[in-house]
Amino acid sequence: MRFPSVPHIVRRLYTLGNATAFRFQQPLRGNRISQIHRATVPKSMSSIPFLSALFGTSTPASAKMTYPDTRSDDEWRAVLNKEQFRILREKGTEAPFTGEYDKHMPDHGVYTCAACNAPLYKADHKFKSGCGWPAYFDSIPGAVTRHTDTSFGMQRTEIVCSNCGGHLGHVFKGEGYPTPTDERHCVNSISLKFHDKEGDAQAGNEGNGEAK
Ligand SMILES: [Zn+2]
Repeated sequence: MRFPSVPHIVRRLYTLGNATAFRFQQPLRGNRISQIHRATVPKSMSSIPFLSALFGTSTPASAKMTYPDTRSDDEWRAVLNKEQFRILREKGTEAPFTGEYDKHMPDHGVYTCAACNAPLYKADHKFKSGCGWPAYFDSIPGAVTRHTDTSFGMQRTEIVCSNCGGHLGHVFKGEGYPTPTDERHCVNSISLKFHDKEGDAQAGNEGNGEAK
């Protein structure tokens, strides 16, 4: 098997518009990752054979995890639009500074999972990070599940919806933000839906229905 050159891999990282690829251009202050689970390779990586070969491969923890909402890919395709499916179910990343909620700073309300409508973050968890994606210093307790993500030769902590396993983004710790946790949940706007009233979000936990 022939491996591509390192510059090829680097080019590919930036082409993918990966959230952390941008972030990693700046050195992180502190480099702690709060939860280190067994190092595994996520599902998306196994579809990139050369990366699997370079960085080791095993069955991804996130692929083995089960969640209360067990809808199949076909069922998700029926309720999510193409971009939602790419990000939530295929662990994609939206382009920075483009998301609906990047600069959204409400003083109340709740952000739910755009796939299953489970409440994930409250408005007062959100802070201005300047990173180009919505940033939260904490989540609603138990709403978000963490996995170690070793794709692209980096060790990051992926966050998914605890109810449906939908990909939200990544969490970073120790960057020096003046928040109570010094954690940054870097979340794709497309993975979220904002509800002005908390009750509205909790009322519909069966999916948000229509594909656009
Ligand atoms: Zn969900």
